[in-house]
Amino acid sequence: MRVAARLIAVLALAAASPAVAQEKHSIDPTPPGSLNPAPLPPLHNPDAPSTPAKELFARKSTPFPGQPRSIGGYFDGCLAGAVPLPITGPTWQVMRLSRNRNWGNPELVRFIERLAENAKKIGWNGLLVGDMSQPRGGPMLSEHRSHQIGLDVDIWFTPMPDHVQSREEREFRSGTDVVASDQLDVDPEAWTHTHAELIRTATRDPAVIRILVNAAIKKALCREAGADRTWLFKVRPWYGHAEHFHVQIACPAGSAECKPQSPPHPSDGCGHKLDFWFKESTLRPPAVQTETAADACQLTARMQADRSSAVIVGGQT
Ligand SMILES: [Zn+2]
Repeated sequence: MRVAARLIAVLALAAASPAVAQEKHSIDPTPPGSLNPAPLPPLHNPDAPSTPAKELFARKSTPFPGQPRSIGGYFDGCLAGAVPLPITGPTWQVMRLSRNRNWGNPELVRFIERLAENAKKIGWNGLLVGDMSQPRGGPMLSEHRSHQIGLDVDIWFTPMPDHVQSREEREFRSGTDVVASDQLDVDPEAWTHTHAELIRTATRDPAVIRILVNAAIKKALCREAGADRTWLFKVRPWYGHAEHFHVQIACPAGSAECKPQSPPHPSDGCGHKLDFWFKESTLRPPAVQTETAADACQLTARMQADRSSAVIVGGQT
């Protein structure tokens, strides 16, 4: 019952937090890690309400036991009963192992396995898998504001090599940036028809509700889609996402506390709807202004979400 009460507290506070997401161009989503990552230093006062939840979640290396549950929202929640995606599968390999972010709701793991198999059929050698979630989900110390409830995954735009990669390769290999340097279109040297087919294949999975890509990639997909445009609505433009695409799957049936996101608008999102993304002020926003806006947006949400999500991470069964 203690656990149930804690979960309710998480939910109540998470529901009060506005979900605001912004990933910036300047953020490298796949920074190299370390082969021997040093453990994080212990917190002086982990039980203090002022201790940020991200500090607590980052120090948990195992899942919260019990039934799989995605709790709260994609930007302000946590995860119980997480399972790991095996780091090497027949048609996928996990990258950046030092991050320990290959955890998810079992539904996400099943989706990745399905996509890896379907990708093979269109000539994609296999998936390189980036961030999923931490063992207990929640906010992260670096890079991501979503990925908190085990229902998000980053898939690299680099196909899996034919060999099982070493720790070094997984940690230090660079991703493939498929966007041209002026950010106005894809890079014809890097972008291929199979990239488009891979994204289309992912949209076809009924679990997928949204895929985020760089606006230049969305533009290319609009151009290359041909007559069948029914899948394009799931692919939405966002900042960054030039080396990977971000897939979000729906709240699973078994996760009653999962807070669904509103589905994307059912239009294809092409043409003038992309204009905003190619404005100079969007492509190169003043750095200070962007930081200030992001900080202001996050402040209230973070103060509430930090306290609420800290509850489950510290909970005992
Ligand atoms: Zn992502």
